[in-house]
Amino acid sequence: MKFTTLSLFPQFLDAFHNFSIIKRAIGKGIVEIEDVDIRSFSKDKWGRTDSPPVGGGAGLIQKAQPIVDAIRAVKTQNSHLIMFSPRGKTYTQEDARRLAKYSHIILLSGHYEGIDERVGKYVDEELSIGDYVLTGGEIPSLVVMDSVIRLLDGAITGESLGEESFDGGLLEYPQYAEPYDFEGDKVPDILYCGNHTAIEKWRRKKALALTRERRPDLFEKLELSKQDKKLLQEEDSGEVPEWEKRALEKGSRFIKK
Ligand code: SAM
Repeated sequence: MKFTTLSLFPQFLDAFHNFSIIKRAIGKGIVEIEDVDIRSFSKDKWGRTDSPPVGGGAGLIQKAQPIVDAIRAVKTQNSHLIMFSPRGKTYTQEDARRLAKYSHIILLSGHYEGIDERVGKYVDEELSIGDYVLTGGEIPSLVVMDSVIRLLDGAITGESLGEESFDGGLLEYPQYAEPYDFEGDKVPDILYCGNHTAIEKWRRKKALALTRERRPDLFEKLELSKQDKKLLQEEDSGEVPEWEKRALEKGSRFIKK
């Protein structure tokens, strides 16, 4: 897969190539990233890429010419062109999964007060990363690249992707690293019992309860099974259910004291 970023500040994106999972994905040939400077396409004698808004108003608007010429230079039949704007559709994990199927994505960042409206007709979709205003589209470009690249085959292990937040419409269950006791705060015993069915059940219960508490909008969309409803009742009662007691008893020799 290839990403081409179109920006007035390509240096801003540089560091992204050089760390961790993204660096490895580039090294393994899973992804290629090309950063293109919109400024280099300006036909203005002074190299300007913006002008004050026609009709008056604050700030500067990016001119159409350098952007459209940059698009023409990089776009092919297989390219999908995304423009970032607070007016766009809000980006979600579902979009990340959808975008991971393209072979070439072009990410167009605006800056200043934004981009001449007439660029819109060269664009396949407009995305926002949330209801707030950033100074430029470079951070949204990083957000999309990062969230898509980690979904590509071979970028990270398949299991890591299996039960992440938003998978199946749920937030992720609580996760712990060693040690068992951190400043008096202990890892739940059930995670040491060795009974994988019980651990999965406990995690599902916690994921359901967390999603209900923190993201009622997601929770509303879930189709709860009979088992899910029972797990939530258990959670609400605050009592340790029989299946959990049995798993704890059987696995007691693995549980840290
Ligand atoms: N005047 C514009 C408005 O009120 O909608 C805001 C322009 S913003 C300062 C400059 C650029 O940052 C935008 O063209 C866009 O590329 C990017 N940007 C800012 N906030 C964004 C967001 N929430 N999502 C995606 N891109 C954003």
